[in-house]
Amino acid sequence: MLLLPRTPSGGGIRDNREALYQAKHRMQGRNWMPDLAIGIDVGATKVAAALVSGPDHTVRLLTERTPQRSGEEIVDLVANLIGELMRSPEAGGRRLPVGIGLPAQIDFSTQTVLRATNLPLGGVAVAGPLRGRFGGPLVIDNDANLAALAETRHGAAEGRRHVICLTMGTGIGGGLVFDGELYRGWLGVGAEVGHMVIELEGADCACGGRGCFETLAAGPALVRNAREAVARHPDSLLARLAGGDAGKVEGRMVTQAAREGDRVAQELFAHIGRILGYVLTSLANLLNPQIFVIGGGMVEAGEFLVGPAREIVMSCAMEPALIDLEVVAARFGNSAGYLGAATLAREHAKEKASD
Ligand SMILES: [Zn+2]
Repeated sequence: MLLLPRTPSGGGIRDNREALYQAKHRMQGRNWMPDLAIGIDVGATKVAAALVSGPDHTVRLLTERTPQRSGEEIVDLVANLIGELMRSPEAGGRRLPVGIGLPAQIDFSTQTVLRATNLPLGGVAVAGPLRGRFGGPLVIDNDANLAALAETRHGAAEGRRHVICLTMGTGIGGGLVFDGELYRGWLGVGAEVGHMVIELEGADCACGGRGCFETLAAGPALVRNAREAVARHPDSLLARLAGGDAGKVEGRMVTQAAREGDRVAQELFAHIGRILGYVLTSLANLLNPQIFVIGGGMVEAGEFLVGPAREIVMSCAMEPALIDLEVVAARFGNSAGYLGAATLAREHAKEKASD
């Protein structure tokens, strides 16, 4: 008899599939796995590198702080992590396909980093030196594109072919999937949904522009609004969580307060949700997707953010664009970046093999 680990309550088909998968490999009594890829997500503060098997099974996960001094240091760290994963018992020293997500604008066809706002990666050779060192198929892409790929292939948008995914955290990233494939623009630097200009003469943005969506709706905007709200509502739960000091408010406190029923915190998410809703309305009218997937740290607030956005879209978008349109929270949290990187690595390796 196959003894399966108990699935958590509320777990669905996916949990059973995962349990079966693990049980099968234990039965086979081996560490070696046939369908592995390496997915790496280089974030502004943390690098996550994983050995991924099947669609979304994380076999081994390594995390390190992102070096801040130079791009070369980041490439060195990534190389060390790839080496460590390839030497692991599951990989058995094989040359596995590698995918790397970077918070950067990338010329996808030449695989070069054109610009990075938060890390010293602009103009740094990433793909070339790593390919030289490991020899196997290796591909780099924008991190939000990879999150969109993970959600489309195996996540909240599984089965859909026209998907727009937003990653809302410190900034706002976007990934567009048209007819089942990522759309990057002619160079590969498109899909920057966070830098759609939505406010005339608005605040300065990190991209060099003004009035971008991200200046009004990313994490820093939430915290800024929350600090003002705490000053106005000193008796709120949010104010208590911050010890009564508006300057101490952090994003996670707003999420916690909203979940615990604080109306002030819920309204802060609703405000950003409505702004999000107007942006999604424009995107629905422009691109006619089947589904919007909202990911990133801010979506930990769940329906407090997504609900108001959905309401705006459903009441403001042109009616034919609303046919079967969904607005949902992402399935994968912090793992979306490296899972998508592993997925792209596998797809890229298959393409290379059939060239
Ligand atoms: Zn901008």
